[in-house]
Formats: sequence, C-alpha cells, structure tokens
Amino acid sequence: MPIAFHSHYPAPRIAAAILAVVVLASAACTRAEDGIVLTPKRVSEHVWFFQGDAGPASAANKGFMSNAGFVVTGDGVVAFDALGTPALGRAMIAAIGKVTKAPIRRVIVSHYHADHIYGLQEFRKAGAEIWAHRNAQLYLASDVAIRRLEQRRAELYPWVDENTRVIPPDIWLDGDTDFRMGGVTFRLLYSGGAHSPEDLLMLVVDDRVLFAGDLIYAGRLPFVGTSDSRSWQKALGEMVSLRPAHVVPGHGPASSDVERDLATTRDYLAYLREAMGRAVKDFEPFEDAYAKTDWSRYAALPAFAEANRINAYGTYLLMEQEELARAKD
Ligand SMILES: [Zn+2]
Repeated sequence: MPIAFHSHYPAPRIAAAILAVVVLASAACTRAEDGIVLTPKRVSEHVWFFQGDAGPASAANKGFMSNAGFVVTGDGVVAFDALGTPALGRAMIAAIGKVTKAPIRRVIVSHYHADHIYGLQEFRKAGAEIWAHRNAQLYLASDVAIRRLEQRRAELYPWVDENTRVIPPDIWLDGDTDFRMGGVTFRLLYSGGAHSPEDLLMLVVDDRVLFAGDLIYAGRLPFVGTSDSRSWQKALGEMVSLRPAHVVPGHGPASSDVERDLATTRDYLAYLREAMGRAVKDFEPFEDAYAKTDWSRYAALPAFAEANRINAYGTYLLMEQEELARAKD
C-alpha cells in the first residue's frame, strides 16, 4: 500500500551539523558499518540472536533496544526482524556474514513497531524477501506510521534520517504458515492480535526455538499501549503449550524456562486489567485510578517512566470497551 512520506523533513541545524560530520567520517572510513558492530549469541544448532539494550530507544544506544535473530539452514538464512535503524540492519547483515557465507533469503517481521523494522530496507537491498502478516496493512496505511517515523527521525538522528523508509513486505501472510528451507522446518504462528494486530511468532521446529516477538518482555516493562491484553494472555498460554526449549523475546535475554520468564509480562497484564477494570466498574476517572494504584512492584523496571501511564490508559479504554460489550449481551 503506498504511503505518503514527508519529503521536507525539517532537520534541526544541530542535526545537520552532525550529519555533515557523519558524511565526512563515512567518506574517510567507508562507513565501517557506521561503527556499530553486533555480536550474535548462539541459541541452538541453527539459531543466533542479537540482544538490544534494556529501556527505550535513545541516541546513546543508537536505537539498539530490541532483539532480532537469524537461522542458518543448508540453503540460506532466515532472519527474524531487522532492528530499529538502517545502520543496525547493516550491522546485522555484516554479523550474519561472519557466521555464514550463505545468502539471507527471507526476513520474517514480528510486527511493524519502529524498533523492529527500520533495518528492513537494508535486507531488501541485500536481496532478502520480506514476509509479514496481512494485518500490518492497517499500520502501513495509517498516519501513525508516518508520525512514528518523523518522531524517530527527530529522536534518533542521524541513525534514523530522511533516507529511512517503512518497507512493506513482499509476501503478505493470512495466518499460520509453515515452510521448510535447507532441511529446517519453520512454523510461523499468528498471535490472534495480542501485542499488535499483526504479531507473528516463529518456531524453529528442529531446534525447538521460539521467536516470540514482543509477546514476551524480559528485564523491562512491557509496552502495552493499545494492545488487546485479553488475546495477549491467551497467546502466552499457547506459547507455554508449544514447550519450546528456548524462547527469544523481542526484548531482553533468551529464556530456557518460558513459564518462568513470561511471568513478568503475564503478571503485569493481569495487574493492569485488574486495577483499570475495577476503576471502570466503579466509574472512577482514569486520573484518580492511576494515582491511587500501587505501581511499586513495577516502578524499578526499565521503561517504566516512558510506558506505564500509556499502558494503564490503553488498558482503561480497553476495559471500558469490554465492559460495554458485556452490557450489550
Ligand atoms: Zn519492540
């Protein structure tokens, strides 16, 4: 679906100065992958992943605050997500190239949130085919996609700049999809619309490794926003029943005990729903409910300051909708 991009993004003067330095530096050192070197962690026979920093995207972490991974098969590489800037995408491709000389044939997009997708343009240049769930069409056609890119250009300049694009997939998937490549079996699983309407999880069957996207957050507060937390809770249960040996979350370290490590996400969703659900039932305004809720058990987690209030508000609105839907029955 075509998207109108703002071609006259007003770069602040200081950013232009930084750009000039970067251009000079890159001319001198042939970019050296922008000085970003990523080192993958090996999870299993075929699977590696890159672990981003905890907390929100910032100039200090150069946007590296989410995870991505890759699977080396006998017939090429399948990547899962592309990280949050083109430079990180290039660094990923360079790091994969140190593990295998095989081509990167495919990228599976977990969902179209900014921290997972701005590296996609580099994978496309490298000849990889991009797959995503059809529900991402909603996001790609929305103002949110344009505003988020503008915001990232401002906050993550020069890592996200006027040449950064949102890349639509080559292949739209309608639901669960299995495929084989080079002797490895992959199952792409649709979450039912949990963290985002288009979440895909990827199970590497032979290795029993599950890429969970943002359905599990480890070591930081989950971003809930407008997510459907009821579907999300259901998807967490289904994830446990897959009995993966290892889970690579969208954020935080890999887990070899899925039940234990999805506890933070599961408990937080339940807590949000309980607190905001009670307020909605009592016709209590959001501000009052938020102020009187005890957030102390989550307040020390990275990203609490940035995400908790919007998570609570999104959940408050969701609980209102659920309450109204019940009233109609
Ligand atoms: Zn994320």
